[in-house]
Amino acid sequence: MDGEHKGQRASSPVVERGPAGRKRRFGIRRGFLYIALALGFFFIMRQGVIPAYLSPLPALDLSVPNAWLVDWRIAELKRDRALCTRVLKPPQISASPVNDNPVKDGCGWQNAVRISNAGGASLSVGTVSCEVAAGIAMWLAHEVQPRAVAVLGARVTSVQHLGTYACRNVLGRKFNFASRSQHATANALDVSGFTLANGRQVTVARHWSGSGAEARFLHEIHARACRYFRVAIGPEYNALHKDHFHYDRGLFSRCK
Ligand SMILES: [Zn+2]
Repeated sequence: MDGEHKGQRASSPVVERGPAGRKRRFGIRRGFLYIALALGFFFIMRQGVIPAYLSPLPALDLSVPNAWLVDWRIAELKRDRALCTRVLKPPQISASPVNDNPVKDGCGWQNAVRISNAGGASLSVGTVSCEVAAGIAMWLAHEVQPRAVAVLGARVTSVQHLGTYACRNVLGRKFNFASRSQHATANALDVSGFTLANGRQVTVARHWSGSGAEARFLHEIHARACRYFRVAIGPEYNALHKDHFHYDRGLFSRCK
């Protein structure tokens, strides 16, 4: 036994020298390089930095459910007005471009649209970023409408909200450092309720905490919003969101 242990120690050198050691170190460096490249690629795709004509991804099609890499494909709409116009089209959404309002002191918008309906429901929004408009249209068509029919027995005919653009900081931060809300760049929408084809009214304020079908519907559709938005927060997040779902397409991710 002793002889075996001695033999093992002798055959496992602490520092590898020679060609084998150099090869291994080169392999580790190459591994780090690949990881750095992958992280860089992930970041630029997430930020929609690559112009659409150079992107390896097909342009977003709002009518396709379960679209792959949907977050990156929505991000490509951020700075590209022509792509936005091509992607946001009836019957998935009725949207028209809004003139840019260059961001000053953290407030303003770029590549925004006005909406009159989306996902088969009437939805009147004055100024909202192209990215959020695309996310809303897909969420309504592929998540909200099917769940409304399955859980409540009727389609949604209109969507109510509490606003998009507001030049203000994030509200209710525990550590009170001032930072602009995504609402300050029209990159967020606060959804508050739904009217169904049978006249039924479902609101976050009234039905979220219940135990009926309305509550089930609200919980199911909110849980499915995370796929289309970076931040999808509702009444469980804090008291400021007790009457609406806040959906935005900012840099950070938070779903609750
Ligand atoms: Zn909000």
